Amino acid sequence: MKSTTRKVVVLPCSGIGKTYGALTRETTYELVDRVRPGIAVTTCLALLVIEDPEALQLIMTHPVITIDGCPKSCARKSVEARGVTPARTYQAINFYKAHKELKPDGIAELNEAGLKLAAVAADELAQVVDNLAVGKEES
Ligand code: SF4
Repeated sequence: MKSTTRKVVVLPCSGIGKTYGALTRETTYELVDRVRPGIAVTTCLALLVIEDPEALQLIMTHPVITIDGCPKSCARKSVEARGVTPARTYQAINFYKAHKELKPDGIAELNEAGLKLAAVAADELAQVVDNLAVGKEES
């Protein structure tokens, strides 16, 4: 059986000055660089805000996972504002709620527990990325 794999866009919020904002970025880096390189890709949230053609093309032609650092949900809303419904949306605090032993701290750089939490969250999201990459939209 022939299967086609497409890229999956993982979009963290900007999250400046917030620990869970930093967690969204670190989780994204883990997915893009370590867990699913070549399949998970990302872009700058700000490029969507300024309507950069390449960034818009990317989110319009691939499944999108948003990860937000607080209920303002800037990543999700930025995608929706461009007429795209994310395939999956996450709040970074829920990664911590599922792994209370890993309490993230830090803003510019996460503490060791936060970095570990980002790695664990990325590992857990791998299956979601894999499913979306082969066109399985259901969880
Ligand atoms: S979702 Fe919250 S933490 Fe993330 S960019 Fe928006 S206001 Fe900042």
